[in-house]
Amino acid sequence: MLIVMDKEATPAQIEVVVDKIGALGYLAQPMPGGERVAIAVLKNPGPVDPALFLDLPGVMQAIPVTRAYKLVSREVQREDTLISLPGLELGRGRFVVMAGPCAVESEVQALTIAARVKAAGARIFRGGAFKPRTSPYSNQGLGKAGLKILKKVRDETGLLIITEAVDGDSLKLVSEYADIVQLGARNMQNFSLLRRAGRCGKPVLLKRGMNATLEEWLMAAEYIMSEGNSQIILCERGIRAIGEHVRNLLDLAMVPVVHRETHLPIVVDPSHAAGRRDLVPPLARAAVAAGCDGLLIEVHHEPEKAISDGAQSLYPDQFAALMQEIQALRPGGWK
Ligand code: PEP
Ligand code: MN
Repeated sequence: MLIVMDKEATPAQIEVVVDKIGALGYLAQPMPGGERVAIAVLKNPGPVDPALFLDLPGVMQAIPVTRAYKLVSREVQREDTLISLPGLELGRGRFVVMAGPCAVESEVQALTIAARVKAAGARIFRGGAFKPRTSPYSNQGLGKAGLKILKKVRDETGLLIITEAVDGDSLKLVSEYADIVQLGARNMQNFSLLRRAGRCGKPVLLKRGMNATLEEWLMAAEYIMSEGNSQIILCERGIRAIGEHVRNLLDLAMVPVVHRETHLPIVVDPSHAAGRRDLVPPLARAAVAAGCDGLLIEVHHEPEKAISDGAQSLYPDQFAALMQEIQALRPGGWK
C-alpha cells in the first residue's frame, strides 16, 4: 500500500498516518517527493484496506501495491531515480560509461588504462581489488593495496571509481574508497551483504545473478533500499546460456522491462555476457539501442597478460571506436 498525501498536508497529518501504520503493526516509510509526500506501508503480511487511511486528514490516495517489491517499484515512485555522484549524474536520461580492467593488477596497469578510457569519454573507472573467483586457487585481487591504486587513479585522472565488495569486511573498505560499490552476480542474494550495502552510504551497482528472475533481482534491490539507500543502479550482465557460443546470454529484454517495473536505472555489462571481445561492441550497441542508462565495459591495454577476463577485454582503441559509435546511437551521446 502506498499512501499519497495532499500537496498541502502538514507534518502533523503525516505523523498521524505514520502512527496509524505503526499501530497496525506495519512499517511506515515516508518518501518526500518534489510536490508531495508518499508513505509506503511495509511488512504487511497481506493486503491492507485503503479505507483505513482514506478518511484521515491530508490523505489524497491509498494505492494498493500489487508487486512483491515495493520501494523499488514504479507503482511507488513514478519518477526515475537519479544517481548523484561527485560532479556526475546517472539515470533520468543521463548516460554514463564505466570502463577499466577486470582486476586492478598494478599502479602502472591501472593508470595506463585509466588514461585511455578517460580520453575516449568514460567517466568512471572500473577495476576489482577484491575478486570473487570461481576457483579458490585463482588470483583473488590485491585487496586494500588495490583500493589505494584506485584512489590514485581517481586523484590523478578525476575519473570516479567503481569496485566490487565481496563480503562485510571488503564492503567497509570499498565504501571508503569507491564512488560506487559494486555487488557481483555471485552475491546478488547474499542478503546480509545487501542489507549492509543499504547502510554503506554510497551508491550501489547491483549485478543480476546468473540465474536470477526479474523478481528475485528487484527483491535484492529492495533489501538495499529497505535499509535506506535508494541510490541503486541495476546491472544486466547475462544469465546462464545454453551452448558455448557466449559466456552468458545477455538478456536485453530486461532493459525495457526494468524501466517499466522500477524507477531504478539499469546499465548493461556486455563484457561478462560476451566472454570474448569481438562480441562486446555489437552487444554494447544493442544495449544502448534498447535504452540502457549506461555501460560497464572491461578494457585492458595488454589483455593477453591480464590476470582475469583478458579474452573479453577490449583494447583501448576498440573501446574508443565503440564510444564513437555510441555517440551516433544516442541523441545526447555519452557524458
Ligand atoms: C566483474 O565485474 O568483474 C565481475 C566479477 O562480474 P560478475 O559479478 O558480473 O561476474
Ligand atoms: Mn571480469
